[in-house]
Amino acid sequence: MPVLNRASEMQEEVAGWRRHLHQNPELLYDVFQTSAFVAEKLKSFGCDVVETGIGRTGVVGIIKGNKGEGPVVGFRADMDALPIEEASGVAWASKTHGKMHACGHDGHTSMLLGAAKHLAETRNFRGSIAVIFQPAEEGGGGALAMIKDGLMEKFGISQVYGMHNHPGMAVGQFATRKGSVMAAADQFDIQIYGRSGHAAQPHKSIDPVLAAAQVVVALQSIAARETDPLKSVVVTVTKIHGGDAYNVIPDGVKLSGTVRTLLPELRDTTETRIREIASGISMAMGARAEVNYHRGYPVTFNHADETEFALDIMRKVAGEKAVSDEFPPAMGAEDFSYMLEARPGAFVFVGNGDTANLHNSAYDFNDEAIPYGISYWVTLAETALAA
Ligand SMILES: [Zn+2]
Ligand SMILES: [Zn+2]
Repeated sequence: MPVLNRASEMQEEVAGWRRHLHQNPELLYDVFQTSAFVAEKLKSFGCDVVETGIGRTGVVGIIKGNKGEGPVVGFRADMDALPIEEASGVAWASKTHGKMHACGHDGHTSMLLGAAKHLAETRNFRGSIAVIFQPAEEGGGGALAMIKDGLMEKFGISQVYGMHNHPGMAVGQFATRKGSVMAAADQFDIQIYGRSGHAAQPHKSIDPVLAAAQVVVALQSIAARETDPLKSVVVTVTKIHGGDAYNVIPDGVKLSGTVRTLLPELRDTTETRIREIASGISMAMGARAEVNYHRGYPVTFNHADETEFALDIMRKVAGEKAVSDEFPPAMGAEDFSYMLEARPGAFVFVGNGDTANLHNSAYDFNDEAIPYGISYWVTLAETALAA
């Protein structure tokens, strides 16, 4: 079965919404115009409930089916843009300097609005669909903010599904995988304390620069020597700050960086080993280390049954050959992970064609993907909640 005819008919209208959102990007939780636009559309479609202000600027619409009682299934899109100066050259480029929709969240929001419009017209399912529009995916944890505001309990959501566009995969193709699909992203700061002194008399000081250098090297042994080569961990030191003069050994050096893992147990052991290595190496050098480890987005973990189900839906929409169940896990992170910790579900990828990469200033969401995204959502609703 090809994409739904109705979804193809809607493409132009939905692309219009998408380009409007693209021209007016907003960051993190400050998606005031975007969430107002979403809420106004959901009301105009006749959603049974439209609630704003969940997770500060998140919006939820409830669409009841007309085939009787049943569970509530959540579909999620993200609304926020990025602090990037747009260089796409498209006619609908950002009107705000320094902000752009470089991750395609304008497309995600528009496709879910398109699906909401269709579902509110047809209501060919039992139970309800909750369309969830979240702020602050790009580093602000907007999904978690909505969950903490009672998203799941308030609307009785029993399953959640999410979708992201994927540059480099042809339009009309879909992919996902069971289990870990995106990484956990953590941050660390290591403050190394030495004792300052004259650079010409190193024996009278404790040199934190030398200790920091050895800590940077030793941290690489976590990935290279301590982790099963078939499992994935990234430890990257991205900042070294210390010292102000050519002739002074400083008092301290600060290292910072990021850790990416695909398995919860590896996340735990990597945090432990960073603490041990930083402290142990510093102590061996006569210095002292203080480690602050901050856990960011968890692993995006696709639940087995819901992923199988999502794969069936994608095959229905795009055909057997256009769907891969072996999407290679990415070491980037995604805050839909919090929703998948709260409820079973699956996160899938829809082809964006041969475009610039996500977070690149030349990127633009591909409007040709719109009918596929809408068809996925509508078919998922009508199948998951078939009478
Ligand atoms: Zn992004
Ligand atoms: Zn994104």
